[in-house]
Amino acid sequence: MSDKNTRREDLPAKQNLLNMLPSEAEELLRGFAVEHGEKPFRGSQVVRHLWQNPAESFASMTDLPVAFRDLLEERFTIPRLALATRQTSSDGTEKFLFRLEDGEFIETVAIPEGSRLTLCISSQAGCALQCAFCATGAMGFTRNLQMFEIAGQVREMKLLSPPKPVTNVVFMGMGEPLMNWKAVDPTLTVLNSPAGLGIGARHITVSTVGVLPGIVALGERPQQFRLAISIHAPNDELRQSLMPINTKYPLASVIEAAKVFERRVTFEYVMLGGINDGGEQATQLAELARECGAFVNLIPLHPGGAGDFTPSSPQQIQWFSRRLRAQRVEVAVRKSRGMDIAAACGQLRVERQGRRTPVGADKDGNVQVA
Ligand code: SF4
Repeated sequence: MSDKNTRREDLPAKQNLLNMLPSEAEELLRGFAVEHGEKPFRGSQVVRHLWQNPAESFASMTDLPVAFRDLLEERFTIPRLALATRQTSSDGTEKFLFRLEDGEFIETVAIPEGSRLTLCISSQAGCALQCAFCATGAMGFTRNLQMFEIAGQVREMKLLSPPKPVTNVVFMGMGEPLMNWKAVDPTLTVLNSPAGLGIGARHITVSTVGVLPGIVALGERPQQFRLAISIHAPNDELRQSLMPINTKYPLASVIEAAKVFERRVTFEYVMLGGINDGGEQATQLAELARECGAFVNLIPLHPGGAGDFTPSSPQQIQWFSRRLRAQRVEVAVRKSRGMDIAAACGQLRVERQGRRTPVGADKDGNVQVA
């Protein structure tokens, strides 16, 4: 118990149990239990309430003695992400806007399909990379998310009433995950670990514009996490105009990294009418995909992104996909989801918070590359 005479600023800061790996939390909490005259298993009980069977507060951990819950409250935190907006599309897609402690907003999208529920999560508040067609890039970069804010998006789904059981996770929300590897690396552990959220590694996809050191770091993890690379243009000239990061990581080096990545890679390719959807681009893309055995996902452009781009027509997308198939490339056309709820990444946050001046990736000290 704290001494009434102790000034608030003298008290040690509370530790965030959601910002450490479950194994670290377990060691800490078992020790804490013993220190306070409880059996070590009390610590393990708390850990189960972090991710597996999340509790919204220490007070709601009703399988623990009240006095122990009070002690936990004094020393630790398990912060929630505040739900600011929830929108449901007629096709079942749901979009969540969460408000973080410092007032930043991030987006999460839940996409049901048969027995699966894929959660598209954010790894940064905003994004520094300024891809020409992206609403998030247009809003600029604010900061990297911490581990508990990234994995917390999945945790919050379990705390909804009724809960939403997430089966798959894709890092395709706001931000470039491999520019925040310091937090994404342990987040992958929390998502995958049985003591965490227990989602199979093959059901977790990290999507990147091609941040090479991050691809290497992801490849070094022993688990079978999946890698998706946003190609969007099959030659340097066009890619340069759409994705400024191509200056730092040109297409050839990204393809090289995909080749040495031990597991199968997916190429993401957003279909921009009259820009990247012609026959020549199909041939170039097919060559790149064959070079590294990649699967190609064609993504219809979601209206409401940035810039004056026009979506390729459905007929053009089908034609393009046939051209790829004819050149021995496996391809799928992604369904557009959530068309009625501004589900293009970043749109909802822009509506809420307005745009900022974009910051270049190289100029922002808060952007970490693995
Ligand atoms: S597409 Fe991804 S990497 Fe590019 S600006 Fe948008 S969020 Fe950033």
